[in-house]
Amino acid sequence: MSSMGYRLAAAGACAVMGLAVAGCGSGGDAAQHDQHVLLLSIDGMHESDLADYVAAHQDSTLAKLAARGAHYTNAQAPAPADSFPGMVALLTGGSPKTTGVYYDDTWARDLLPAGTKDCATAKKGAQVALTEEIDKDTDQLDGGQGLSGLPNGIAAMTGDPSAVLDPAKLPVDPATCKPISPSDYLKVNTVFSVVHEAGQRTAWSDKHPAYQIVNGKGGRSVDDLFTPEIDSKSPKGPAWSKDVDAVKQYDTYKADAIVNEIGGKDHSGTQSPGVPAVFGMNFQAVSVTQKLPVSKGYGADGKPGAPLAASLDFVDQQIGRFVAALDKAGLGDKTTIVVTAKHGQSPIEPDALTRVDDKPIVDAVNKEWAATHPQTPKLIEHSIDDAALVWWLADARPRPPPSRSGRCSRPTAPAPISTATRSRSRRRAWTRVRSSPGPRPPSSSARPPMTLGCRTCSRAPLGRSTPRASPRSPSTVATAPTTGMSRCWSWARVSPSTMSPNRFR
Ligand SMILES: [Zn+2]
Repeated sequence: MSSMGYRLAAAGACAVMGLAVAGCGSGGDAAQHDQHVLLLSIDGMHESDLADYVAAHQDSTLAKLAARGAHYTNAQAPAPADSFPGMVALLTGGSPKTTGVYYDDTWARDLLPAGTKDCATAKKGAQVALTEEIDKDTDQLDGGQGLSGLPNGIAAMTGDPSAVLDPAKLPVDPATCKPISPSDYLKVNTVFSVVHEAGQRTAWSDKHPAYQIVNGKGGRSVDDLFTPEIDSKSPKGPAWSKDVDAVKQYDTYKADAIVNEIGGKDHSGTQSPGVPAVFGMNFQAVSVTQKLPVSKGYGADGKPGAPLAASLDFVDQQIGRFVAALDKAGLGDKTTIVVTAKHGQSPIEPDALTRVDDKPIVDAVNKEWAATHPQTPKLIEHSIDDAALVWWLADARPRPPPSRSGRCSRPTAPAPISTATRSRSRRRAWTRVRSSPGPRPPSSSARPPMTLGCRTCSRAPLGRSTPRASPRSPSTVATAPTTGMSRCWSWARVSPSTMSPNRFR
């Protein structure tokens, strides 16, 4: 394909492939000559998917980009991995601890619940679900903007999704007693903030208006943010994310926006503000196909099944459109293309996955706690069970100090789990506890919190004080086996998003 030959030109344009943003040109000509960065996330794509696809499709756009660019193969997504922590990491370089975004759905100990009017007396603690649930109208592709001619007229959707977020569904800042936007929930700025402040144009397209978060702290920094709601009703059913063909149609709306932007237009193709300096989109087709029960994603050999292979082809074709459009606009040697993935947390061996319902686990822990802590009867304030089982705990009191002998002193009350996971040494201790083979669903007789506490305190240095959790940090995180982070955490064998009728894609 001659149109891509220029990527080897001395001007230094290059493509970066792989599961991370990586610089290309390493301070040489690329940094000086490139005027645009096109960031593309292929949601759900594993490194192995990319490597296999490139090997098997030498004429594909991805193969040609990989051949001419840098292919970084050792990137990792934040854990637990999913769309919000992954996207925020790509745009900020921050870990969840820095950004405050541990998951798509989190608990904020420092905020007040949505709808709070009396901020003086309200109890702190709010769910922050950065999902379709905060749209003005979840059923509508435009989030409730009121456009006619949907779905194909979706290009007319606003470039400022703040306009279609319902303030009554947002958590409330106790300092101002006003709703806090997703972007102000983020603790840091983003690459868009930096580029925007430098006077350059920015654009992004993603799957919910809640992606208003990518503006970063401090106000609007994405000039054109096109966010059709993926979990709205589609012509094929209850959501675009429930059908392979529908999600491709959905992704094509966003891809059309990128082609418009490469041509110097806004996402709708009606204004001509110029080509953004940093822009891009997220593809959902691969992630959705991996997760739909009818598709199962991968065969027993760990290779993509026919539907997933077709979705990878679809994404490749769309990226081919971008390359052709860049070529047509004369921007081929002035643009760095980054191909990456927010996350790749779908199991490659679906049959090796054991799904465990989290409800009995959560109920058992809360029941045990309530029996011994009448003042704080509910230990788990907020729980999500998707790509990982994550708990935000109500109780964060320091545990009793260990005895001088290094053995466990018997706490007067059961040690809260929350304090057992804070330090590296303690986390290791827990890991050992959990490394016995097979799932270990807790029962009241197993009393995991007590076991945990004893093992932990015998290893903790004497006299160490227990740090308190930052307002948003989850108290307990079990990573999904597919992240490859730590096999022994898989005791929970929690059901990944793939399996539950979930909204986190
Ligand atoms: Zn996702």
